[in-house]
Amino acid sequence: MLKGRTAIVTGSTSGIGLGIARALAQQGCAVMLNGLGDTAAIAELCRDLAESSGARVLYHGADLMRPADCAELVRAAEAQLGGCDILVNNAGIQHVAPVDAFPDERWDAVIALNLSAVFHCTKAALPGMKQRGWGRIVNIASVHGLVGSVDKVAYIAAKHGVVGITKVVALETATTGITCNAICPGWTKTPLVQRQIDTRAAAAGLTDEDAGRLLLLEKQPSLRFNTLEQLGATAVFLCSPAADNITGISLPVDGGWTAQ
Ligand code: NAD
Repeated sequence: MLKGRTAIVTGSTSGIGLGIARALAQQGCAVMLNGLGDTAAIAELCRDLAESSGARVLYHGADLMRPADCAELVRAAEAQLGGCDILVNNAGIQHVAPVDAFPDERWDAVIALNLSAVFHCTKAALPGMKQRGWGRIVNIASVHGLVGSVDKVAYIAAKHGVVGITKVVALETATTGITCNAICPGWTKTPLVQRQIDTRAAAAGLTDEDAGRLLLLEKQPSLRFNTLEQLGATAVFLCSPAADNITGISLPVDGGWTAQ
């Protein structure tokens, strides 16, 4: 379905970004991966993804906490893949602490990556999309773009900001063939969430399974984690012709979390 299209998926060396990159490549889309990690392992990842999907897969190591790197990532995709038709703003980090004990440096880092990088990458990608008259921007926000929780002030501020950026970009591009939407996942078992499960397990002397179940019990009525395949398929849907007239939405994939 996406043969001939090109995509950047930020933060796709792991977790949800990798799941989305895989799903796009399986639809025939050429993909530029991005994220941190071991060079040899990333090269292997690219080979594996290209072989299993038949799509072209490249990697760029931009550090998206730096605005200049965001622009450079888009320039590299345009030069090496011929464009950036689909931009998935996914890279993100978490820090957990109450507001009055939240380190300033962690606030700056979370805002730089989870919020400002979405602006900088989108700004860099829009001119090419406008020129080609087609574009899909998929922002990976979070249920925490829609509701609050304790101890995650920077993350929740950033994700609410991403939902805001999504609406503004959707309005500014409404007649241009470009759509901009956000996906708002609930708990999805990735390294980012595994670290939170590990912390709880260690603090309360629980097994990994029991700590994960507790996390779900608190917030996610389905009592099931999202799978990477489900989020990949959701992103593909937003890039499909069926979603041509869907723009500016923030779509929860959250097992009922935000229905409460
Ligand atoms: P993850 O830790 O598995 O992946 C994060 C990715 O971001 C990795 O590829 C990492 O290398 C990359 N990254 C980190 N710092 C970077 C930097 N400076 N520049 C470029 N890339 C960088 O986490 P995940 O759970 O897959 O999270 C992906 C996105 O999904 C995040 O925006 C997160 O907020 C969001 N999200 C996750 C969940 C969940 O339950 N896992 C729920 C809602 C939203």
